[in-house]
Parts: sequence; structure tokens; C-alpha cells
Amino acid sequence: MDTFAEIIVSIRHNRLDRPFTYRVPSTMDVRVGSRVVVPFGPQRLEGFCIGLNTDSSLSETDGIKEIEEVLDEAPLLTEELVDLSAWGAARWLCNRVDFLQAMVPGGVRWTQRKWVEFTGEVEPESPSLCYLRDNGPVKMAAWLKSFPEMDRPGELRRLQQDGIIKLSRRETRGIGKKKILTAYLINEADQSKLGNKQALAVGILKKGPCALTELEKQGVSRATVRSLEKRGIIKTEETSLRRDPLAGEQFIPQQSLSATVAQGEALQQIGDALAGNKPRTVLLHGVTGSGKTEVYLQAIADTAAAGRGSIVLVPEIALTPQMIERFAARFGERVAVLHSKLSAGERYDEWCRIAAGEAWVAIGARSAIFAPFRNLGLIILDEEHESTYKQDEAPRYHARDIALWRAGNHDAAVVLGSATPALESSLQARLGNYRLCPLQERIANRPMPPVEIVDMRQELKDGHRSIFSRPLLAALEKVFAEEKQAILLLNRRGYATFVLCRECGHVMRCTGCNVALKFHMAEEMLRCHYCEHQEPYPLTCPKCSGRYIKHFGTGTQKVEEELRKHFPHVRVARLDADTTTRKGAHQKILNTFKNKEAHVLIGTQMVAKGLDFPDVTLVGVITADTAINLPDFRAGERTFQLLTQVAGRAGRGSAGGNVVVQTYTPEHYAILAAKTHDYEAFYAEESVARRELGYPPFTRMVRLLLSGEDEARVIDAASFMVSLFEGDADILGPSPCPIEKVRGQFRWQVVVRHCELEPLLAAVEDAAEKFRCSPPATAVRLSVDVDPQSL
Ligand code: ADP
Ligand code: ZN
Repeated sequence: MDTFAEIIVSIRHNRLDRPFTYRVPSTMDVRVGSRVVVPFGPQRLEGFCIGLNTDSSLSETDGIKEIEEVLDEAPLLTEELVDLSAWGAARWLCNRVDFLQAMVPGGVRWTQRKWVEFTGEVEPESPSLCYLRDNGPVKMAAWLKSFPEMDRPGELRRLQQDGIIKLSRRETRGIGKKKILTAYLINEADQSKLGNKQALAVGILKKGPCALTELEKQGVSRATVRSLEKRGIIKTEETSLRRDPLAGEQFIPQQSLSATVAQGEALQQIGDALAGNKPRTVLLHGVTGSGKTEVYLQAIADTAAAGRGSIVLVPEIALTPQMIERFAARFGERVAVLHSKLSAGERYDEWCRIAAGEAWVAIGARSAIFAPFRNLGLIILDEEHESTYKQDEAPRYHARDIALWRAGNHDAAVVLGSATPALESSLQARLGNYRLCPLQERIANRPMPPVEIVDMRQELKDGHRSIFSRPLLAALEKVFAEEKQAILLLNRRGYATFVLCRECGHVMRCTGCNVALKFHMAEEMLRCHYCEHQEPYPLTCPKCSGRYIKHFGTGTQKVEEELRKHFPHVRVARLDADTTTRKGAHQKILNTFKNKEAHVLIGTQMVAKGLDFPDVTLVGVITADTAINLPDFRAGERTFQLLTQVAGRAGRGSAGGNVVVQTYTPEHYAILAAKTHDYEAFYAEESVARRELGYPPFTRMVRLLLSGEDEARVIDAASFMVSLFEGDADILGPSPCPIEKVRGQFRWQVVVRHCELEPLLAAVEDAAEKFRCSPPATAVRLSVDVDPQSL
């Protein structure tokens, strides 16, 4: 009986996001999760098998094409991951193929590229064609990049019709297993009957199997190997070679520490969840340095002892060698590492080791949530509140939700670890849906660093106008006198310019949405980018009538200049998007600081996370206001998280440390709560505000982003989008996005809210479908973001 496969082809197109049926040739081993190559119209495409059947009615039907090829020895995706792609596509309103592609480790994809060659008969004149004649077939994309004049509409078709060029498609297989030929000694030979080279080979192989490439290096040719093989003295076999991301690194094995009482309680809760008891999610709420990582390590060991695998997710930026080192020291070979800095080959091999059950634990950034364990026991999200767990391109999934889904499938436990849990998670714990495990003290009773809040309004009143307040200058002086180090944080995102009164600290906000109004330089207007509200730039402060009202924003470079004015001899390392564009720059800058070649590290958010420098006795926050006044409903939460995290960088060594936070809003609850390390106080205030204004986690939101080159069209499309919802739908916008123009594309957004997710998704899906089939959609791109991290 014929077998048929349901294939999703690798084309990102809404209309083609459905399975197509292909016949499976009887000699071919296609399984659910296999990647295949199929004919599709005139092309060949990569596809994913999501189902198999032997429907006899299909056998009669003509016109069903055959699968041409299976791409991997064993399916790269498990059946569970194939199911996940269906659930995820419905959950985040994206294409199923988006998920299937996102799951496959990077660099593995089978792709097709267009190539072009010169086939004309007369000498070409243009440089572009001369280049082709001289260089043979070349990749079309690269050629067009060098000769953009060829990219005119119709140009290529004309050249093709005139027989001057020929286009073709070439396939790239992507990465696979790395194969090597290894020789084994199978028959101890009488040395006297061997030639010199043969004897040399036998000598080497007596010590153990050896790769042919290695034998060649030692002077044994392939011909010698073949002659020995013919005589039955050795045999050769093809084996795969593992590309090990941790190769050559030494890890001193480390045993479990004996758990503290609080750690023991957390481990017991996790154990109970592991045993299949609900709730299966544990919120591990522990201050920085309270021993969360040790809890993870021991829970993973328990899970492995039960024969089950674990996944540990860390925010990309925290995936420092330090973290990997701790895992490798505990689990050695049983750790698989998955992150974007690995080569494609390493990633592929680590993936296969997980699928084959060779690894106990996979540690990686967001996409490691797809690690193909067949028997998963535990999923850990470290720093679970981090926004990097949400992918900001399709599929726009959140790793936390996928963790919960996979845990449901495997009866596995989920551990969400954080010093500042997301409001979403904290709410679930309060509702009794998660187990709450607090770790309230730092290990060894190390104190939390004291946090000093400096009121910058008072500084101004006292006639002190520097961006460094007097208390911060004094603290820096002390650091330099004691030959310690300081970290200065300047949280700044390019677009976030808000207007603030330097005398009273008043910030211009939208009364309806409670977000900071954004300053538009060109029109001298202030605009709320949630609703349509706008107002003119005020000449005086509406609250205190002060004249020092101005838009706000300072760069790290300016901070460095200012610092040098006060301390001319100080050595500074700067860590921000400008200084870290080159590969490896990030680590290099940190090493400079680590080796004490710099006294001060100035940086953006990047300096807040994961760094552990025992000589840092001071952390200074240049202005907390840039975080508070981000035009975003999560601004308060982000501020609290940032301040807590950056405070955790101070006083890690025996010398202790302190934190100085400069602000124009010292009374803001996020700042007060960070000062006293009081999460509960923060939660109480923040949740009241969110509930009142109808923001998550008390509502659900979907952001519909419309973009295109023609601004008028984009605006029209956005209004049209709004008209597709029922009259009583709760809609914010249309309004320009916080970043209004990216690479020539104008961007507008429409935000839809509802208290429940299901009806919201249904309404949005319906509207998006109608939108795509309508004239206003022409030349406008729609992208849908369910549960956006920011608006
Ligand atoms: P967190 O992940 O919460 O920041 P860590 O697990 O990194 O905390 O622990 C902080 C420090 O305390 C580390 O140096 C760790 O080795 C040490 N530590 C953790 N648990 C214990 C324990 N039970 N006994 C002794 N030292 C511990
Ligand atoms: Zn508003």
C-alpha cells in the first residue's frame, strides 16, 4: 500500500501555510519530523513532514507528486515539536512554517540560491557583464549587490531572452554530520612481511583506531591504507566526528554544595512537581546571590537520576563563559550548549546529541526551548522576567509559554527563577497556579548593598548642574582612593526622548495612557504614541511654572567626557551598542575591566546583567528617569528590574559596596522599592496601576504593526484595520510606533485588548484575514504580535 506524507513547504506565505500531500517512494524512510525535498510547481523546496497516512482513496488519484529526497539521517524534529508548531502558530497567529524553521538549528537549512552566468556570443561592454564573462557562474544576489544597475525591473528578463545571460538555481544542503574515515587494526600482522610505510601504519594503529587524515599527517598515504585493507590487516569505517563547542577546555569537576534550608525547601517543591504533582511550575523568587543557580544544578541532577532531560534557558547576554563553566564542572560531557555564538556544525552536533539521548541537560538562549528531548523532566528559565525570552520577529513566541506547554506534554516541572519576577508570573503565583519558593537571603549572609537615592532637583537648586551629583562624585573619589572599581549605568534607548522639568521633576505624560509623551523635534510637539493625543512643547512647567523644562537624553560618550573633567587620570572602559559592534569586542572590553586596566566601566543596560567583579564597590546610575520615562506601560517594571539588577553588581566581594541612583523623581515607587529591595511593595503599586489602566497581566493585548514605504497608505491601512473590529472592541490607536521609521518603512500600530486571550485571538485572526484580502493591504505589510513586550 502506498504511503502519503503531509508536507509543509518552506515558503513564508499565508496562503501556502497548509500541508500538501506527497507520495512516499517505497524505498524511502520518511517519518513525522523528517525534512525532505519536494517538487513544488517548477521549483524544488525544502519541506517538513507533519503526518503520514495510507489513505487508499489517494492511491487512485493521479497528479500526486513524490518526495524527492530525505535530508537528515534521523528526523531533526520530534513528533512533539511538530505538534508544537501547530499549537504555536495558533497561539501567536503566525505561520506554522515559521515555527518549523525556527526549531531547526541555524545553519542546517536546505536552501536554493539563484546563480547567473554569461552565455552571450559577442564581447560584452558593460562592466557587469564583463565580470560575469570572466568569473563564470556567480551568485545572483552578490552580483546584483556589486552592480545595482542590473536590478532594474525587466533588465534581467531582457538579457535572458536575448541569450546573453542564463539563470539557474543551485542548492545548498546546509550543515550535516561531519564524517571521517577511521582505520582499525583487525589482524596483527607479521612485521617482516610489511613495507616500511605499512609497518608504520600498523604501528600507529596498534595504539588504537586513527582517522585517515591523521595517518596522512604522520606519513601514511591512502594507497598504503588501501593495500593493508586488501590484505585484511586493517579495516576502515566512516564515523561521524563531533564538533564540540567546549573542546579543549578543562573543567574541574565540582560536587553539589550542601543545600541551605531555603534551597532545600525549593528543591523539595521542585521534586514534588517533578513527581507529577500540580502545580508543576515553581516560581523561584530569590535575590541576587541567594543560590538560585545551585538549586538549578541540584534539580537537574535529580532529574537526570530519574532518567529525564532538562533544559536551562538564560538570557543571551547572561550566557557568559562563567555560567557554562558551572554547568560543565557539574555535568561534564552531559551538557549540551546551544547558542548563537556556536558554529553551525557545533549547533547541529549538540542538537543530535540531545535527540540521541546523550545529553542530560541543554543550556542555551531562547531557542534552546526547542531542544529535542524525548523525555523531558525539567525546564528552567533563569531571569525569567527578561524581555529577550520573547522573540521579536516571526514566530513571536515567548519561551515561558512554550516551556509551560512542553511541561504539560511531558508531565515535567518548570522553574522560573528571578530576583524580580515578571508581573505575569507573580500574579500566577498569587492565584495559586504556581508554587512560590522564596530565597530571601544572600548566601553566607552577605548583605544587600545599601542604595542611596540622590534628588537631582535639589542639586540644581543648590546650583550644581553637572550630570554627576555631589554624592556620586564623593563616592567615586572614595573608589579611586581605595583603588577599587566602579560601574556607571546610563540606561538609554535612542528614541526615548521625553520632556522633564529639572526643577520639580515633572514629566509630561498622556493623561489617558499614563505613558511619557514623546518629543518630536521637527514639529516641536509632544505626542502619545498609544493614543492619538498630542500637545505643544510647553515653555514652562505646567506644575511648578519653572523654566528649566527640557527634553532629555545623554549618551555614554558624554558621561565619559564629564567624568574626565572631574577625574582627568581615570581610565575608562565603555560598553554600549557603539563600542560592541565588532565581534568579540564585548568580551574584550569586559576583560579590560576585569584585569583592572580600567577603573570605571560606563555602559547601557548591558552592564546591569550577570557581571561578577569582586572589586566593584560602587554602582552609579546616572539617571533612573530614562527608564521610568520610556513611553511604555512596562516602564516602571523595567526600572525596578534594572535598578535591582545593577545593584546586584555591587559589593560581591568582601569589600562590600554601595549604589548611588540619581533621579528627578525620587518619590517614584519603582525607585523607592529598589532602594529597600522590596519586591512586594513594588508589586502592590504596579499591579494597582496596571489593573486600573487595563494593561497586562490583567488584560491581554495584540499589537498589529503596519509598515510600508508610502506613509499615507500605511496610515490608511491602519484606520482600515481598526474598522475591521466590532464597535465595542477595546482598541488603542492607530498611532505611530515608538520607532516610526525603520529602513525607509513607515510604521503604525493598532493595539487590541481583551480580558481573555481566546476571544482576542479569534477577533484578530478574523480581522487579519479580512485585511489581507482587501485593497488597503496593497503595499502594506501586516505583522501580528501577540502579548507584545512593549508598545
Ligand atoms: P544566584 O544564582 O541566586 O545569583 P548562586 O547560585 O550563583 O546565586 O550563588 C551565589 C554564590 O553562593 C555562589 O558563589 C555559589 O557558589 C554560592 N553558593 C550557593 N549555594 C551555596 C550553598 N548551599 N553553600 C555554599 N555556597 C553556596
Ligand atoms: Zn495616550
